[in-house]
Amino acid sequence: MTEPTFAPRVFSGIKPSGGLTLGNYLGAIKRFVEMADGEFETIYCVVDLHAITVWQDPAELTQATREVAAGYIASGIDPEKSILFNQAAVSGHAELAWIFNCVARVGWMNRMTQFKEKAGKNAEAVSLGLYAYPALMAADILLYHATHVPVGEDQKQHVELTRDIAAKFNHDYRTDFFPLTEPVIEGPAMRVMNLRDGTKKMSKSGESDMERINMLDDADTIAKKFRKARTDPAPIPGKVKELADRPEARNLVEIYAALSGTSAEAVLAEHEGAGWGAFKPALADLAVARLGPISDEMRRLLDDPAEIDRTLARGAERARQVAAPILAKTYEIVGLVRG
Ligand code: ATP
Ligand code: MG
Repeated sequence: MTEPTFAPRVFSGIKPSGGLTLGNYLGAIKRFVEMADGEFETIYCVVDLHAITVWQDPAELTQATREVAAGYIASGIDPEKSILFNQAAVSGHAELAWIFNCVARVGWMNRMTQFKEKAGKNAEAVSLGLYAYPALMAADILLYHATHVPVGEDQKQHVELTRDIAAKFNHDYRTDFFPLTEPVIEGPAMRVMNLRDGTKKMSKSGESDMERINMLDDADTIAKKFRKARTDPAPIPGKVKELADRPEARNLVEIYAALSGTSAEAVLAEHEGAGWGAFKPALADLAVARLGPISDEMRRLLDDPAEIDRTLARGAERARQVAAPILAKTYEIVGLVRG
């Protein structure tokens, strides 16, 4: 049997669960922009249905949805070229997620580390949606037959689960309808860490604002957060392997490398022997130079929310056109009668 070929297509998304962070920029958005310039058709989503797996104030959810859209556009995603929309506007995501809820196994869900981390000791009281989240994510990706998904390191397990769901669907229904999607996780800073605790990742929804750099932070705030970032007393080493047991040091070096478009090796070669008192201001200057123009443009776009909503609506129309035949065929394969 010959394998079907799928056109190279990228899908990825970010939740409007708070303000965008430097982790979202380096782990996701920056690479979304790069992939939009390549051989791929690119589909980028504001995944609002994922955001409500934990409580979101309705007005803040609407605002955060526009902020993620503004972050995409201000960073260089062209909404004419890429398809840019919000998930709730295309009902196929929720529809396919239901079918995948019936394909995925409870045992698979029980292995998801994000659920364990987010639920913590409170696993009995969190929403059913938080538990089912990876099946919705599989639906987001497979509704478009996406072949590649750029994500940060923390989402690798969910993309692997997406492959498992596609493979089980294909096996159970004796078809080769869904592709086995590849995660794309390349470069430094694919897991940007919390500035106050180098063992935890930086997150939009983290407790303290001091632990993250927000894309909308001003220059003084960025400088202050890096100045107060936790480090160890040793100076910057010469070799990457010497960062292995120094999570905070490694994090700052990787952020520097990603922002300057080089490798951790190159950053160490340039700064070997320097103390944090010299390195942190250089890092802050680099972050401000990189994020400043983007946050200015985000603010300008956010001044006209109706225009953002129109852009999202146009993207949703295009997304529906891609999704509709794939969803219709899925129903047919499953044997669901739709009239
Ligand atoms: P939340 O705390 O609500 O989960 P988040 O900051 O983790 O928010 P998500 O919307 O869950 O953001 O993830 C969006 C994208 O950003 C994903 O591709 C994810 O891998 C990436 N990402 C999130 N945090 C980081 C990080 N610290 N480093 C690198 N990539 C990240
Ligand atoms: Mg997350």
